[in-house]
Amino acid sequence: MKGQYKRIGISGGTFDPIHYGHLIIAEEIRETMGLEKVIFIPSGNPPHKKNIKVTEAIHRYNMVKLATASNPYFEVASIEIEREGYSYTIDTLKQLKQIYGRDTTFFFITGADVIPELVTWRSFENLFTLCEFVAVLRPGFEKEFLLEKIEYYKRNYNAIIHVVDAPLIGISSTIIRKRIKQGKSIKYLVPESVEDYIRKNALYLYGFARNTHLTLK
Ligand code: ATP
Ligand code: MG
Repeated sequence: MKGQYKRIGISGGTFDPIHYGHLIIAEEIRETMGLEKVIFIPSGNPPHKKNIKVTEAIHRYNMVKLATASNPYFEVASIEIEREGYSYTIDTLKQLKQIYGRDTTFFFITGADVIPELVTWRSFENLFTLCEFVAVLRPGFEKEFLLEKIEYYKRNYNAIIHVVDAPLIGISSTIIRKRIKQGKSIKYLVPESVEDYIRKNALYLYGFARNTHLTLK
């Protein structure tokens, strides 16, 4: 793998579940930034959601697999879900550097909501030396505010954070989970394969599914 890739995108998240927002943004950034591929990395035990229950990692991983299957530029990595304990992006980046070598630049794709939170990430100063960030706006987030934050990171930590103008997509996993609980349709918010998977495994019907013995009639 060493020396084979120059520019790789990383799409990290809880993906609970993955939706068209994630997919559209990743594809847009892949093209705009000239990335050779985008690796989706579902989190294991997200450190920032310690008190919030998250669906079993294997389900989230399976859904990311299904959602990305038709795009030859998309790949899914299970490194975070295989790791014991909480997963930290810094460890993931170090692992990826080992695999791909020093000639590969990593571009970590994030929505505007994640940028202000970066200061809470483990070894974030160090993270800025291991990857560049690519931020896109999400509905409800002011561009001015995003740019201010980015300036702050640039000035204080020499961070490289690109801003890409991508379509604003008003989809979130929270909205999807809520709609399922309310018995509403999630068509056109997630790929059909993901919709089927959610239905077959009865996910999100009763809060966060931890056991999978439930089946729909
Ligand atoms: P939740 O509502 O559970 O927080 P989410 O939709 O924000 O879910 P995450 O898995 O938390 O999805 O997000 C992973 C990454 O994808 C984050 O960087 C987030 O900002 C980004 N992202 C998610 N949805 C969108 C969207 N509609 N537009 C742009 N970025 C998005
Ligand atoms: Mg989120």
